[in-house]
Amino acid sequence: MRYSPQGMENPAARAEELRAQLRDASHRYYVLDAPTVSDAEYDRLFRELEQLEADHPDLITPDSPTRRVGAAPSEKFAKVTHRRQMMSLANAMTEDEFLEFDARVHRLFGDEPLRYVVEPKLDGLAVTLRYENGRLVQGATRGDGLTGEDVTANLRTIKMVPLQLGGRPPAVFEARGEVFINKRDFVRMNEEREKAGEPTFVNPRNCAAGSLRQLDPRITAQRPLSIFFYEVGETPGLTFATHWEKLALLRELGLRTNPENALCESLPEVKEKYRRMLAMRHELPYEIDGSVVKVDSEDQRRRLGAVSRTPRWAIAYKFPAEEEATTVEDIFVSVGRTGALTPVAALPEIVRVILESRPAGSRPWEMPKQSPACGTPVVREAGEAITRCPNPTCPAKSVSRLRHFASRLAMDIEGLGVETSIQLTETGLVKTPADLYRLTYDQLVGLDRFADLSARNLLAAIEASKKRPLRHVIYALGIRMVGEATAVALARRFGSLEALMNASVEDLQSVRDVGPEVAQQIHDFLALPGQREMIRQFLAAGVSPEPEPAVAAAGPLAGKSVVLTGTLAQYSREAAKAEIERRGGRVSGSVSRKTDLVVAGGDAGSKLKKAQELGVRVVDEDGFRELLK
Ligand code: NAD
Repeated sequence: MRYSPQGMENPAARAEELRAQLRDASHRYYVLDAPTVSDAEYDRLFRELEQLEADHPDLITPDSPTRRVGAAPSEKFAKVTHRRQMMSLANAMTEDEFLEFDARVHRLFGDEPLRYVVEPKLDGLAVTLRYENGRLVQGATRGDGLTGEDVTANLRTIKMVPLQLGGRPPAVFEARGEVFINKRDFVRMNEEREKAGEPTFVNPRNCAAGSLRQLDPRITAQRPLSIFFYEVGETPGLTFATHWEKLALLRELGLRTNPENALCESLPEVKEKYRRMLAMRHELPYEIDGSVVKVDSEDQRRRLGAVSRTPRWAIAYKFPAEEEATTVEDIFVSVGRTGALTPVAALPEIVRVILESRPAGSRPWEMPKQSPACGTPVVREAGEAITRCPNPTCPAKSVSRLRHFASRLAMDIEGLGVETSIQLTETGLVKTPADLYRLTYDQLVGLDRFADLSARNLLAAIEASKKRPLRHVIYALGIRMVGEATAVALARRFGSLEALMNASVEDLQSVRDVGPEVAQQIHDFLALPGQREMIRQFLAAGVSPEPEPAVAAAGPLAGKSVVLTGTLAQYSREAAKAEIERRGGRVSGSVSRKTDLVVAGGDAGSKLKKAQELGVRVVDEDGFRELLK
């Protein structure tokens, strides 16, 4: 695994940085249906974080993207708490990784017969459909795996979703599957959108997700969505011996399963099926990006269990990335918020360079000697991989800094996108983020493409940001190495911007997870006269961050290590965690001798068992509610 040299020196800061990048990408991908980085790039960052966490287990945080599925559901829809968690899948990117998965499974079962079901891995979005007495009563997206979005009305518009089950349906039946769009329909839809001047979809997955997550079901009804079912959720009273049996029942009830699914008796059969799926990939009417290999026996699945976000009994065995040749026409250089210079080539992701095809007369590329934005000579410190523009007032930095300041995890100022940030910077209206709080209506409507409504909206969003909680304001300052988690820790410890500004390096180092290097970095940043002046201007403009809620020092949960397992009816995982933390407790992901308490909701599995074996105190939801009183 490759780390940037910066990451080598400071794994904690790199982990923080990766987490922030992955969270932002997930939000854009799952909630906004508008990804801004490629899946391959996302997967690369994800794996780098996984590797970092494996090498430094102390860096693992329970809210790390490696421990979670998807993203929290959007506020646009009513929320649905899944009765049985919806998980993601671990990935095997190479044959070796797949063989490791198989070896792990075999190690547990010795000579027992072991069958796999191999299915095409569709590129769409997972949904769960609940049928009561055969009638469709609710449909939801996966969301973060525990809570999804209620998209019943939209799912009803998909012709392949039966409103009434056939055969002899059980009283309660939950079917899970993947909603997707055929390649041809995707292309057609994009052509139509282009003609109508609407933004096009990035890929079929994004198109399917965007279509299903419409507020108006009439729009969904016009989109040619399809579905294949591949799993059964809550079905009280019904047990299955194998996955293959489940697929048969789904079909019997009129729920479509993928005709390419195959039951394989041996590893060579699995490999053969994978090869065949890879070969037919382009002939299939829909996009697939690999095969899903699943242990068939339900009993073996139970014994294998799951890690935080993925079952141990299945793996997404991905196809190799497809390569296409292209020519680098030009390389641009952008200057980031911290002054870092990044060369950017305007083309799809580069897998490898085909040296033999390099045109005669090509020139080697070199990092510019001067900042392309302001002309200041650039610097590269000894031992650093990054070249930076040292000019604190470089306009390119101002734009990136403004974007960061307005971003969702920072001040969350809607309407302050790239173009507006450039306009505000170029016109000189905003030199530092503090200037935002001095903008007037007349200044805004005087700008290009700014109408009455957008000016009012932007001013309202800026006004609303004055009340952002302290953690977001600290994050918004854009201190190098200070990500979301460090910002929370700093907000808790110092309680106000003033106190943070006056903290010594020693004070800063006493904060959990802040090492000497990060402490020095924060201290140096806040000692810069420009930064201090900016913070003073914020405060003068009426930015009054809410302090972090006080953490209780006494009470039944104070100082306790708590593990949540199973599904709680009245609390999402997030909400339960927040309640515990507010009372001074810590939520941990796994049960050990150090665990003080396990809160077990419905369908609790291996963690509950482990707690019982270790004699750890267990409470159910009612008991939990008592503790919160
Ligand atoms: P995943 O897509 O890698 O695998 C899990 C999902 O596969 C399931 O939830 C289900 O929806 C689907 N699936 C398809 N066929 C299936 C079958 N036959 N059986 C079972 N499940 C099947 O995992 P994910 O958690 O949905 O998404 C993670 C991936 O999403 C990343 O690897 C990345 O490529 C992409 N992503 C991209 C961005 C971005 O910004 N580009 C951001 C976040 C995630």
